[in-house]
Amino acid sequence: MNITRTRHVLSWLRDPGAYEAWNVQGGLRCGEAPFMMPTSGFIGFLWDDSFRIGHQHQGIDVFGGGELNVTPVVAAYPGYLTRLPEWKSTVIVRIPDDPLQPGRQIWTYYTHMADPGGDSFISEAFPPGTFEEFIEAGTLLGYQGNYSGDPGNPTGVHLHFSIVKDDGSGEFLNELEIKNTLDPSPYLGMPLNARQNEGDVPVCNDQVDS
Ligand SMILES: [Zn+2]
Repeated sequence: MNITRTRHVLSWLRDPGAYEAWNVQGGLRCGEAPFMMPTSGFIGFLWDDSFRIGHQHQGIDVFGGGELNVTPVVAAYPGYLTRLPEWKSTVIVRIPDDPLQPGRQIWTYYTHMADPGGDSFISEAFPPGTFEEFIEAGTLLGYQGNYSGDPGNPTGVHLHFSIVKDDGSGEFLNELEIKNTLDPSPYLGMPLNARQNEGDVPVCNDQVDS
């Protein structure tokens, strides 16, 4: 567990207003990065952070600093949205052509959009069972929540966002294993790889609206 990041997350959750410089704006791109930030807040935990022995974090956790069901979550990149019938807090978006590796299909995974009891904060446009619905970048998917989560993870309203590999036959691999996910750093244009970022707060000095 990265002590610095854990300490930062606790500080942020206690008083987000005191750390305004850590806030990254949702719906904007960082420089030339292909993906928009999918939500606003402090990027508290990174890809490949370890919450417990033998487990590596497969995505990033963005803590909005607000109450449940307040901070919007938007699509980082265009694609085809699916919400499995049993998914309360999660949607996945198929991207047929990886912008950083053309010809490869990847998936973007957005979760924790529900309250602890499982009341969903996903947009009514995407009810359970939604299958392969085309969405543009910036489409509202729902709002940050705190449903479920990693056991060692400090509680707090956030979005977990990850980039999931395809199994080669058009299906997404199991998001829970880091080997099935990609380092989101080049997609979002920020240092989001825990092994390469000891304790710097990932921020963007060049967020653009495009
Ligand atoms: Zn997470």
